[in-house]
Order: sequence, then C-alpha cells, then structure tokens
Amino acid sequence: MPSTAPHPAATRPLPAPRKDPTLLHAHAAMASMLEHGLSPTPANYLVWFSFHGDSAPGLRAELERRLAGQPRMTQGMMEELHLQFFTADHEAVSLREVAARLEVAVHEAIGLVQDTREDALRYGGTLAQATDRLGAEPESLNTLLRRLAAETLEVSRRSEAAARNLAETARKTQELRDELAEARRLAGTDPLTGLANRRHFDKALREQLAGQRPTALVMVDLDHFKAVNDTHGHPAGDQVLCWLADILAEAAPGDAVAARFGGEEFSLMLPCGQLRDAMAMAEQIRGRIAQATVELAGDGAHISVTASFGVAMAQPGERPAQLIARADAALYEAKRGGRNRVCADQPLPKAESVWN
Ligand code: GH3
Ligand code: MG
Ligand code: MG
Repeated sequence: MPSTAPHPAATRPLPAPRKDPTLLHAHAAMASMLEHGLSPTPANYLVWFSFHGDSAPGLRAELERRLAGQPRMTQGMMEELHLQFFTADHEAVSLREVAARLEVAVHEAIGLVQDTREDALRYGGTLAQATDRLGAEPESLNTLLRRLAAETLEVSRRSEAAARNLAETARKTQELRDELAEARRLAGTDPLTGLANRRHFDKALREQLAGQRPTALVMVDLDHFKAVNDTHGHPAGDQVLCWLADILAEAAPGDAVAARFGGEEFSLMLPCGQLRDAMAMAEQIRGRIAQATVELAGDGAHISVTASFGVAMAQPGERPAQLIARADAALYEAKRGGRNRVCADQPLPKAESVWN
C-alpha cells in the first residue's frame, strides 16, 4: 500500500477488466498508479499504460531497473521516465498521426456532404417538374409542392455551405499537419548550423544500433577553437562552426547522419561495416578542412582551422553510450598525438569486418 494518503479510488475495487487488451492495459495502468501511491495524472497513466502494453521500446526494462532497488515508483521517477520516453518528439509524432486521421475523416465527410447535396438537387428538380405537371391540380396541393421544392433547394444551399466549411477545415488541417512536421524537424535541428542536433543524433544512433546495422561513428572536434573566439570574436567562431557544418553535410553520404554534438564538437554516423572506409571518409574531411580558409564576415580576415577525428566501429549489440565513449577516446588520442589527425580506437586490421 502507498505510504502517502491513498487515492480515493483506492478504496473501491476497480471494475473487472474485459478481454480487449487495450482495456486490460488501461486497467493495469490504473491499478499500478494506485499500488504505487501515484496520482492518476495523464503522464503517469501514459507511462504505466505503455509499460503494461510494452508499447514504448526500452520503457519496460528501464522501469523494472528502477524498481529493482526499491519497492515503489516515486513521482520524480515517473517524471523522469515520462521525459525520457515521451518527449515532445513522440508527442509531435502522435499529434501528426491524429492530424492525419482527422484529415481522412474530414475528406470522407466532404464526400458524404457532396453526395447528399447532389441527391438534394436531384430531388429538388424532380419536385419542381412534378409541381409544373400538377399546375391544373387543386391550389392547395400545388402550393404544398412548391413549398417542398423551395425547402429542398434551401437544404441543398445549406449543404453547399457545409461543404465549403468542411473544405476549409480540411485546408486548415493540412496547414496544421505541415506546421507539426516543421516543428518536428526544428526539434531535431541545431539552430546555429542547421545540422541535426544531439537529440536527433542520439535517436538516429539508437535506432541504427537497435537494428543491428553495420555502423561507424566519427567524432570531430575543432582544434584550438577557443583561440578563434579569443582572437576574432564569438560571431567569427559561429561562422567557423557553420562553415564546418556545411563541409560535414556535404561530405556525408545520403544514408549518414551528421550532427552538431555540442559546442565545437560534431559527429557523423556512417552506415558502413569497414573501419578503413570510415577512416578514409574522416581523412578526406580532415584534409578539406585543413586546406581551406574561411573568410570572416567581421574583419575580412582569412583564417585556417584544423580538426581532430576519432573513429570507432560499432560492435554487435553495443549500446550508443559505449560506442560514443570509444570514438571519444580515439578523438582524445588524436588530440594527444598533435591534433589535425584521424585516430581509430583500435589498430586498423589488414582486412576486416566485425559484421561479416
Ligand atoms: P582543443 O583543440 O583541445 O579542442 O581546444 P579548444 O580550444 O577547441 O577546446 P576548448 O574546450 O578549450 O574550447 C572550446 C571552445 O568552444 C570554448 C567555447 O567558447 C567554444 N564554443 C563552444 N560553443 C560555441 C559556440 O556555439 N559558438 C562559439 N563561437 N564558440 C563556441
Ligand atoms: Mg576543440
Ligand atoms: Mg571540444
């Protein structure tokens, strides 16, 4: 039982769950919140619901790991899990899905209304003809039919207005969908350089490794970058960062992910199984940086910069943090060895692939 005051719902038994697995998970989620003395907030519910349905990759293991050391989940732990597994990115995805479903529904509704309108127009026409034919009939019947025809036309006019409204709704829905897509793109973009940001990179690397695909990681760090800021000012430093980002984006193959890892450090995830290929790519980029000069917008000075590179190949089953640590260690070696060089975290084998 919870150590805090029990939630009021804890005093009554929950209704028995039905067979539908979604209901079972919903029921289990409520039960877990009560058992752990947690308020039934949407965030808590989402975490427990996904836990019981096993619908968020890694959540089950993480929650169980946290529970191993103690009997109960605290509100703080729940908030951490919510942040970790249901970030704005996930929310944007679900919002986009909702928007897409809404759009389909609206289009179906427009189709229905248009059908109805056409039916109504046909009906109105038929009635009008009938009214003409009945010209000789008693006045009361004629009047009735005319009124009916007029009302039918009115209905069709209203349907037309409804169709216009729905078309407008569909247009707005499309706009919303575009905005969501843009928000999602921006959430994964570094505002200064336009490259992928750390968040996007971590996600891409996580997915790449989870898919057991051959992967090389290249970490890039500008050499003595502090001196650029100190000598030419921070805006000049920013310009150099953008310049380097452009070089990386241009050099990265289509299936690679180049990112600003943080500060003046960049990363490149290469879907490739050979250390020598990853080293060659890093060497090519290093050479381009070292040979070029940057013309600074501020004082017009032409400056040269260099960068150091650390390369590591993912081992089957390896976690992102381990791979990053190995590439970082190689980068450190490159710095220690005199900078402006590429180092691997292991000697280059004669002919190798860890993946085949
Ligand atoms: P090393 O060769 O050992 O990497 O030396 P370094 O000077 O590049 O490394 P250090 O870690 O000493 O300094 C990094 C500098 O990068 C300090 C920091 O002000 C600068 N920096 C980090 N982010 C930005 C940024 O967004 N814009 C600018 N202009 N500078 C940045
Ligand atoms: Mg540096
Ligand atoms: Mg650095």
